[in-house]
Amino acid sequence: MIEKNSQTHSDGADSSDEVRQFSRVDGESVRFGTGWISGVAAIALSGAGLLVVLCIRFPSIFTMSVLREYYPIPIVRALLYVVITSGFLFGILSLVLRRRKVLGTTAIVFALFAGLLGGAQIQLPIAPDGSAPAQSLLSVDWFVLNLMFWCALFIPLERWFALRAEQPVFRHGWRTDLSYFFASTLAVQWVAILTMKPAQILFSWVIDESWRTSVANQPLALQVLEILLVTDFVQYWIHRAFHRIPLLWRFHAIHHSAERMDWLAGSRLHIVDILLTRGCTYMPLFILGFADLALLTYGVIVTLQATFVHANLRFTFGPLRYFLVTPQFHHWHHSDQSEAIDKNFAIHLPIWDWMFGSYHLPDRRWPDHYGVQGERPPEGFLKQLLWPFKR
Ligand SMILES: [Zn+2]
Ligand SMILES: [Zn+2]
Repeated sequence: MIEKNSQTHSDGADSSDEVRQFSRVDGESVRFGTGWISGVAAIALSGAGLLVVLCIRFPSIFTMSVLREYYPIPIVRALLYVVITSGFLFGILSLVLRRRKVLGTTAIVFALFAGLLGGAQIQLPIAPDGSAPAQSLLSVDWFVLNLMFWCALFIPLERWFALRAEQPVFRHGWRTDLSYFFASTLAVQWVAILTMKPAQILFSWVIDESWRTSVANQPLALQVLEILLVTDFVQYWIHRAFHRIPLLWRFHAIHHSAERMDWLAGSRLHIVDILLTRGCTYMPLFILGFADLALLTYGVIVTLQATFVHANLRFTFGPLRYFLVTPQFHHWHHSDQSEAIDKNFAIHLPIWDWMFGSYHLPDRRWPDHYGVQGERPPEGFLKQLLWPFKR
């Protein structure tokens, strides 16, 4: 077994330290009235405004072709006006209230850039203009939509049903995880292409059209269940290999380097981990030939479940937890306590861990802490990108 999970935590401050540290940022208080909340809100609003303006201005570079035609431009423009203006005003408020001016200044610069590029008056259509290629460079729109969706869903949920109520939203490691979220949503189209390519190159000769048609003609629910079983079986063994083979562990250790669990922590995945896991998982799906709608439904389920199981949520799901991977099940996978080493590899269905002897789900207990033992990857997106390649 690779030594990694089970010694005491040396890094990562404990939660009370984290709360105490978090009450001050750069030596200044973050309480209400200090310009911190207005500064963070200003950056979020004006940053989102700037990204949306970039999407409208350069649709063929920054927006996904499949989404372009659905954007209601008049509503987007009205929202842009509110978002950019309030970002600007919050920025001024933060400048007035806060001694350090970096938050307010950054927000105002973002708002001004958004205004210079056309702001809410921007006239260019977001719809494909004929010259726009199907494959854009970066999916900025996908990033903005995803961030809004997940924040709106999980920030209130994790407040009301927190497993660790003392854990702040901006907890230890949030910048690293947000960078992963940013990179993976921005590159979502390229990752999809690279995921499908190996199967198409290696297995096109196996394809039997009559077989594929009969698979795709099954009822949708049955296809989705079959996809879940097949992909989870494949993922189980790839995941286990990532833990057992030292060379692969260096890539997967990045995912396990998260020391705080919440909805964002699941984004922390090395690109090699993502491509190898998804590339192999897609192979049986490609050969079997499921219907597009079944694949899409599976995509929604895997995204929701993968985000949900990392969340800081205390739901245990009663007897359902024996049949579905839940936050408690996956939190144990992330624990560095000795009882949890190399346990709970499944992503959807714990049945594989039952069958292959890696199931660990104590009745009421949750892990005390998370992380990696032995050689720990450094914090930071770029450092972690290069770390597995260094000896
Ligand atoms: Zn793992
Ligand atoms: Zn995980």
